[in-house]
Amino acid sequence: MLALKDIYAKYDQLNVLKGISIHVEKGEVVSILGANGAGKTSVLKAITGGITVTSGKVYFGEKDVTSLPAHAVVKEGISHVPENRRVFRELSVEDNLIMGGFKFTRSKKEMDARMESVYEMFPRLRERKTQKAGTMSGGEQQMVAIGRGLMMSPKLMILDEPSQGLAPRIVEEIFEAIQKLGKEGRTIVLVEQNIFQALQISNRAYVIKSGEIMMEGDAKQLLAREDIKEAYLH
Ligand code: ATP
Repeated sequence: MLALKDIYAKYDQLNVLKGISIHVEKGEVVSILGANGAGKTSVLKAITGGITVTSGKVYFGEKDVTSLPAHAVVKEGISHVPENRRVFRELSVEDNLIMGGFKFTRSKKEMDARMESVYEMFPRLRERKTQKAGTMSGGEQQMVAIGRGLMMSPKLMILDEPSQGLAPRIVEEIFEAIQKLGKEGRTIVLVEQNIFQALQISNRAYVIKSGEIMMEGDAKQLLAREDIKEAYLH
């Protein structure tokens, strides 16, 4: 469904990605792991925009989406939930969800049905649907950000460090939700520093170091490898 083929990419003069090849099949949860500054977010930007790809190709299905602008990538059905959970702070939870869905739904009925499935995934959001998103806790804002992404019913969902800066109990809740999404058959690319928890809910993973793939494979097999801990090191 998604394939990055030998991607080299840079910011201004700084080469950050040095030959990244990644593939994601329909229905898979695939993690991209690595330490701070390893290049994980840059891999996502190579897919959805924000970094200059100097060589290599990104395919989504049959289509070459290399260097397409962000809005065009969204139109293809890729939802990118960025780092630091950007929600519309002044809008209610419900209005945040509507913002996520309105370009991608044809009727109120469809919008309501999608909203209902987000509330089933995150019951806390239903309880707080009239609350301003900016006044919610970090974990709740992350739920809003993921929920908003789900409202477009994406073919592929990209989650950039959803557990960042959250308390352990909330991290658990977020990972459970992602696992549920995976079990529903959704296709997910997950970027995480929380390597062990991410591997537990993934089918496969790539470990990145200094813009190169250092390890890849089945998540269970990677979990068993002693040298996986090196992924934390700079
Ligand atoms: P983190 O977990 O800290 O977000 P990461 O693995 O996602 O790390 P990237 O954000 O992809 O890493 O950054 C990879 C390298 O690119 C880093 O050295 C970083 O400083 C650099 N970098 C990131 N964004 C930019 C930018 N907009 N301009 C210049 N350099 C950048």
